[in-house]
Amino acid sequence: MSAAPSPLDFPQIARRLVAWHRKHQRAMPWRTGPAGARDPYAVWVSEVMAQQTRLETVQAYFRRWMARFPTVEALAQADLQEVLKLWEGLGYYARARNLHRAAQLVVEQHGGRLPADRKALLALPGIGEYTVGAILSMAFGQAEPLLDGNVKRVLSRLADLDRPIQEAATLKELWSLARELVQAGPADQAGLVNEGLMELGSLVCTPKAPDCPACPLADLCLAAQRGVQAQRPVTRPRRRTPHYQVTAAVIWQGEPYRSRLLIAQRPETGMLGGLWEFPGGKLEPEDPDLVACLRREIQEELGMAIAVGAPIAQVKHAYSHFRITLHAFHARPVQGEPQAIGCADWRWVRLEDLDAFPFPVTDQKIIRALQEGRAQRDGK
Ligand code: SF4
Repeated sequence: MSAAPSPLDFPQIARRLVAWHRKHQRAMPWRTGPAGARDPYAVWVSEVMAQQTRLETVQAYFRRWMARFPTVEALAQADLQEVLKLWEGLGYYARARNLHRAAQLVVEQHGGRLPADRKALLALPGIGEYTVGAILSMAFGQAEPLLDGNVKRVLSRLADLDRPIQEAATLKELWSLARELVQAGPADQAGLVNEGLMELGSLVCTPKAPDCPACPLADLCLAAQRGVQAQRPVTRPRRRTPHYQVTAAVIWQGEPYRSRLLIAQRPETGMLGGLWEFPGGKLEPEDPDLVACLRREIQEELGMAIAVGAPIAQVKHAYSHFRITLHAFHARPVQGEPQAIGCADWRWVRLEDLDAFPFPVTDQKIIRALQEGRAQRDGK
């Protein structure tokens, strides 16, 4: 007869996590000083950057950011366009806009110091339960839990949760496990427990191939004991990701590559808000083809009629809930002056001026195609 499942030994798990993390953690530019007594601003910035982004990618962004905005005050005083420019390529641009706005509120309401208080932190834009847990545990040493994708996976394996991880009841259970664990840890080491959990999820308890023989928690993990770690966490099947065809126009005032071209700024709220782009939009069922789609979009967005010319590039990109293929074309104005109807602003700029504006990754690829096109044309 098999033994009844043992309850999780939280104090032991927490102690082992701390010891393992001290030995195996990767060096990161924000891991300066002991977890629990770090600069709250640096913890905040790094944790917001690390949401949806690999730590290896975050490092360079973090260094540039902290060199330019070393304090909450410096960020609060910065121009939003510069903030977005430094965020360019990280995606989920609402995170950058919220950091900027929240920094201004921290200066106005808290004298430029992040409050060590759950309720006050949650009142700031862009700060949710995860970020609160990270700031309170890693900067202030408070035994507050956090839950990200790595922590959810490790905890659902440790506790062998067999309900889908997306369900509200499972999420509630995970928060309660995370809280019990961080509170069972050694005093003032909540930051190390949380960071250790995340690091273990990144390096050992990975989604597809958990390396249980190398895991410091192997003898305490219910899923590993039962041999079901590969089936945890249980997830609901994903819906198929939609794939959209999207058009963009590089509208030249005169001769392509030599004259100015038109860029438009996206409305500040919504996806990629505040970034600049080559105007255009999604192919709709009523559009006979991409060229017709582009002419319609430019008319709706800028009140201009255009003639569409040669294709420039096709760019594929995956966002979290959909994928796109972006088709960029040369174009020229036929009638009308640009008006900011469906965009926040517009500018005629030279190709060499584009680096000064923040663009989404897709449009950066169009810029590179334009630079190559010009070099070829100039015989360089
Ligand atoms: S024993 Fe395996 S499944 Fe369990 S926490 Fe460690 S790596 Fe993950």
